[in-house]
Amino acid sequence: MTIDPGHGGRDPGAIGIGGLREKDVILPISREVASILQRQGVQVQMTRVDDRYVTLAGRAQMANRARSQIFVSIHANAISLSRPDVNGVETYYYSSGRQLAQAIQGSILRSISIRNRGVKRARFYVLRYTAMPSALVEVGFVTGRDDAPRLRTAAFRSQMAEAIARGILEYIQWRRL
Ligand SMILES: [Zn+2]
Repeated sequence: MTIDPGHGGRDPGAIGIGGLREKDVILPISREVASILQRQGVQVQMTRVDDRYVTLAGRAQMANRARSQIFVSIHANAISLSRPDVNGVETYYYSSGRQLAQAIQGSILRSISIRNRGVKRARFYVLRYTAMPSALVEVGFVTGRDDAPRLRTAAFRSQMAEAIARGILEYIQWRRL
């Protein structure tokens, strides 16, 4: 499977409270998701393992060329800094990734106390141009007064990584991949 940590390099992604950068939050989460899955015997490819810029097309191509059976993109959400009241986790799919998105969102909600913003369909590039079931999880708001302080901590990021990995494993077992 392919794990896709969003943004990187010259693209910091969203900037939140106290300058908290999306790319810095999601890389450690993504790396931990990958290592948990690898320990469970899942073959994992990452679109980036360090702080570098990768195009959206490059991300989709990596997954398609490797003939990955699952693609999971990891992002953090943002809204205006004047809306710290907006917090929570949401997971997107485009076509065949609905069950995958539901498995990830469900797993997060079972193990972490965080607002549920739901599973939604959206035309994100990496979801449209990947040839396998794909999902994009937004692990919380870097602009949120509840989410941002937690996303800063390694302990919370580990909890989030474990929950995402568990959701992916459930999906793998369900699909008998
Ligand atoms: Zn993002």
